[in-house]
Amino acid sequence: MEIVKVIPSGYCKGVVNAIRLAKQTRTDNPDEKVYVLGMLVHNSYVSEELSALGIVTLDDSLKSKEELLDEIDEGIIIFTAHGISQKIKDKVIAKGLKYVDASCVDVLKTQNIIKEKLKEGYDVIYFGKKKHPEAEAVISISDHIHLVTNEEDLKDLEIDNDKIFLTNQTTMSYLELKDLIEKVKEKYPDTVVQKEICNATSSRQEAIYKLENCDLLYVVGDVKSNNTNKLVEVGKRHGIKKVLLIQNYKDINDEDLIGTDKVCVTAGASTPPSLIKEVIDYLKEKNI
Ligand code: SF4
Repeated sequence: MEIVKVIPSGYCKGVVNAIRLAKQTRTDNPDEKVYVLGMLVHNSYVSEELSALGIVTLDDSLKSKEELLDEIDEGIIIFTAHGISQKIKDKVIAKGLKYVDASCVDVLKTQNIIKEKLKEGYDVIYFGKKKHPEAEAVISISDHIHLVTNEEDLKDLEIDNDKIFLTNQTTMSYLELKDLIEKVKEKYPDTVVQKEICNATSSRQEAIYKLENCDLLYVVGDVKSNNTNKLVEVGKRHGIKKVLLIQNYKDINDEDLIGTDKVCVTAGASTPPSLIKEVIDYLKEKNI
């Protein structure tokens, strides 16, 4: 069985930077409480690593970020790599809390482009995932931003403005985006489009599209990670027979390896390198 590690895969610059900032905050403030508002990056192993350093992740699917903040009266709040709404930032400041912003520069770049287009009088169609923190931060900017996750959302959309701008969450699938652009152009032909899939996301997706004769693709990552889920979708769309999302090597079912000539391993942008290595090592061990 041939074992191929897909390159590039794993950590992106935004994730590396967010983890570095969180650890630096801990080191610089040994006596203060340090919190992350949401998962710093979407991988539970990273949250556990931070927890071991005394950095508390505030994450509860039943509570909004504002409600989570209501419970904090002192310490430092770290904003996650996905970006944060101005409203939440203002609330942190009003409470007298300090903050560290770990938003990825690519996320901020997209937000700034959207703000410019709003100033120019555009309504914005934003292709993103519902309830994802990056999308939530963006749609909080203005009521003139319309979140579209799929074609159904587009059918329901009614925009009363000649100036329409289309852009996207940084971690979407470039193939899905291409399809959506076509549909938006059918409905609103004069739409101005700016593709904003980040380099890390597109290069990891393109690397899957270049794979040949791969029978089985493991995508190592967390189910909450949008870019990880998109790698699964791209693998399936590329026609790979079996594409499996695993959190770590323990999720590998040996039966899936039977009759496999070529197994490929990729990973989301928030997956720690140690988890990818463990998967490769496990497969090599099984291959003896
Ligand atoms: S996936 Fe892209 S946008 Fe997200 S943190 Fe990484 S580089 Fe930034």
